[in-house]
Amino acid sequence: MEQEIKQLQRYIDEAKKIVFFGGAGVSTESGLPDYRSQEGTYTKLEKEHLNPKIVMSKRYMLENPVAFFNRPNTQKKLRPKPNAGHQYLADLERSGKDVRIITQNVDGLHQKAGSKLVVELHGNNRRFYCMKCGREYPLNDMPRDKDNVPRCPIDQGIIRADVILFGENLDPRVLERSKALLADSDLLIIAGTSLSVYPAKNLVRHFGGKRVVVINKTPIDVPDLQVDLMIESEVGKTLEQLTI
Ligand SMILES: [Zn+2]
Repeated sequence: MEQEIKQLQRYIDEAKKIVFFGGAGVSTESGLPDYRSQEGTYTKLEKEHLNPKIVMSKRYMLENPVAFFNRPNTQKKLRPKPNAGHQYLADLERSGKDVRIITQNVDGLHQKAGSKLVVELHGNNRRFYCMKCGREYPLNDMPRDKDNVPRCPIDQGIIRADVILFGENLDPRVLERSKALLADSDLLIIAGTSLSVYPAKNLVRHFGGKRVVVINKTPIDVPDLQVDLMIESEVGKTLEQLTI
């Protein structure tokens, strides 16, 4: 591990533009669930005999809003804080390094830590809007109907989070921005993701630099790119050993 940290440190020191491509594993050390592990969101749903691709879809939200909005959601009760990984990346940027973050997470923890260039592939769970009129409502003061479904008092439209659900396409501008950042960076750090979820696998192919590092608890397959360094560990635990 020590040798791997030294190598990562050297790569970061030498890089001018670093692109960090992160997934759920970046936030697990902040207490947020990932998808597929024992406590993962999908695993829990499947234990209840629910198919995540169905019950986390746009169609299900529209056709079964009462069930959709009344499902126990552990994430909402938590007030997650950035962990050592988020903090390191923000501090590195603050020191003058060109750090770009592309994240599959919707939790906003990179921004909370202070990162300034964060592309959110799957949207964010801090903005809520009415699907009919677009009015925005704050999470803490969400108008709800008698069935506890968040609804706009003006036109009774469903109020939803600005996140990508199953059955929805990613914002093409966000995809283009991600590709451009990947193409224009010289070090790619893929962290806390299996790259198995669309569009992660296809996106990293656009990396135009020469060095690729993976930090993940289990080894992953990175198509079309040669991985220079694979660190099998947690993301925060790894990054906190580095110096700025
Ligand atoms: Zn409305």
